[in-house]
Amino acid sequence: DETDGKAMILEEADLKAIPKRGTTANKGSCGKILIIGGSENIYGALYLSAKAALTAGAGLTKVFTHKNNIESIRRAIPEAMFYGYEDFEKEKLLESIDWADVILMGPGLSTGKLSEEIVTTVLDNASVPLIIDADGINICANMKGALIKYAKENPVIMTPHLKEMERLCGVPVKEINYDMEKVARDFSCETNVTVVLKNYSTVIASNDKIFYSVSGNEALATPGSGDVLAGIITSFVAQGLPVVKCGAVGAFFHGLCGKLISQDVGIKSVLASDIIEGIKKINVLT
Ligand code: AMP
Ligand code: MG
Repeated sequence: DETDGKAMILEEADLKAIPKRGTTANKGSCGKILIIGGSENIYGALYLSAKAALTAGAGLTKVFTHKNNIESIRRAIPEAMFYGYEDFEKEKLLESIDWADVILMGPGLSTGKLSEEIVTTVLDNASVPLIIDADGINICANMKGALIKYAKENPVIMTPHLKEMERLCGVPVKEINYDMEKVARDFSCETNVTVVLKNYSTVIASNDKIFYSVSGNEALATPGSGDVLAGIITSFVAQGLPVVKCGAVGAFFHGLCGKLISQDVGIKSVLASDIIEGIKKINVLT
């Protein structure tokens, strides 16, 4: 999968890079994931990311969210671990950051002052691979200095759709759409962030290495689809797939999940939770 400047189109053989679970594995050896997201009484995106991460094979997965979400999300996904904050609880956040092998930040986070404090605390204190999606991206758009500093020292993957990319780099959606590859490459070269620029086909840029994922179909155009992708990518990082590959392999895997499940239930009937069912179909095969 060497690119030497040329874009590569991902294919099923690239899924072979995903580590198998060793026979001597335990839940701690499959990677400890911290997912920071949700906001007061909003937890759907967070739930989808956590469920996707675990279904894709992650080990311990801890959710850090507003305390009002805890009861509902625990009922929805009892396999996860939880911390519910009342207000900005810096010490508790730092404890969770210290515990984690990889952090996903953003699903359902919202963009208020509290969320900004959380994002700043992560960027200033964490030192693990970081996946940033959704409102995590929207917030980082206004703290590019801290983002660039973090990405100099740690692997970072961002998963913007076109509108989030516009906020992040200031290029209007229309222009991004015209040349996704250039916009993704420019931002990645500037920041050292791996960019997974999501659309009906997805461009992944790790500096000037470019990948295309065209495994999906229009079944993936459904609410929560991106939250599932973020969970899958984070899961692969936790399992030890080299971080530079996780954005590309994750995007390809996610597309295939959606396409496979759409063959069972019909394109328009695929919901984000069905994409998670699609993960099981691929994991049976690989
Ligand atoms: P989000 O907008 O954050 O929920 O992300 C949507 C996800 O679905 C991304 O991974 C997109 O690449 C994927 N997606 C959306 N529409 C399509 C489509 N028409 N064909 C293939 N993939 C799509
Ligand atoms: Mg999204």
